[in-house]
Amino acid sequence: MARAKGEPVTIENIVVPDPGPGEAIVKIQACGVCHTDLHYREGGINDEFPFLLGHEAAGTVEAVGEGVTNVAPGDYVILNWRAVCGNCRACLKGKPQYCFSTHNAAQKMTLEDGTELSPALGIGAFIEKTLVHSGQCTPVDPSAPATAAGLLGCGVMAGIGAAINTGGVGRGDSVAVFGCGGVGDAAIAGAHLAGASKIIAVDLDDQKLEWAKDFGATHTCNAGTTDPVEYIRSVTDGNGADVCIEAVGNPKVYEQAFFARDLAGTVVLVGVPNPEMKIELPFIEVFGRGGALKSSWYGDCLPSRDFPMLIDLYQQGRLDLDRFVSETISIDDVEAAFHKMEAGDVLRSVVVLD
Ligand SMILES: [Zn+2]
Ligand SMILES: [Zn+2]
Repeated sequence: MARAKGEPVTIENIVVPDPGPGEAIVKIQACGVCHTDLHYREGGINDEFPFLLGHEAAGTVEAVGEGVTNVAPGDYVILNWRAVCGNCRACLKGKPQYCFSTHNAAQKMTLEDGTELSPALGIGAFIEKTLVHSGQCTPVDPSAPATAAGLLGCGVMAGIGAAINTGGVGRGDSVAVFGCGGVGDAAIAGAHLAGASKIIAVDLDDQKLEWAKDFGATHTCNAGTTDPVEYIRSVTDGNGADVCIEAVGNPKVYEQAFFARDLAGTVVLVGVPNPEMKIELPFIEVFGRGGALKSSWYGDCLPSRDFPMLIDLYQQGRLDLDRFVSETISIDDVEAAFHKMEAGDVLRSVVVLD
């Protein structure tokens, strides 16, 4: 739990109410440590402390409330933060992946003194059992280990979806991915799955560029020593990449992605900027280069469609989710995992609960 801005996380006893209508209790088996958890802890998302962190998780449904039909006790599920409503203007247009009114549990989990907790992304999964809306539970093949499956609940789905859903990467495309952490490497894996013929990984860290090759990068560029725009053009017949994916959330990197893109190509922003950042681009180039500048929220995923499909591909050996798991840790080690994440030493630390 994160009690106050910037303070180290603590372990607490949490009171979890019985599931009400539409809610479910899920016994957590594994939960990844994501940058967003750290952003909550740093007060970068909102000020609604205390936060119950953790949101990239898989586990087993233990109990369901009245009216729940999509899952039953015993189901093995990945938790998602896009439980679509079915009624908002996006859902009614047949685009539920953009749902503007997603469901979370109506009841609150609390500390023993009654203090209400804010669960990270409406999940809160660094806990033995959590309370969510039943729509946040996506059943998948139970033979997939929770350490790997849980990662689809956030960062890995964001990256794969940025390539496949938002970027629309197809067979033979050239793709450049800027930033090779967990999300960027997932974008590389997604581009590889989609049949991209060239995948150019860009980062400042040679170790990360080595890891990127394991996910399918065909070329690597250390942006600290080589201009990535020049490099990407040089390996794409002078043209630039069909799809450039920015997985950092930095205006300078976004500008590089913009100029490293071929005419009529697509830029996808999946990195999360901070509220102070601004971008400046020559407006004539925005017009003249054509194509699309898109942002990707949660990889524009539809959990009910994408999670089971990606687990199938994992089971077939076509998507190596295990490779994202740098280490498995106990719940006592989340603070240490934040430090490793900030230092860039890990792609994902995954908390295992039993
Ligand atoms: Zn909706
Ligand atoms: Zn996350």
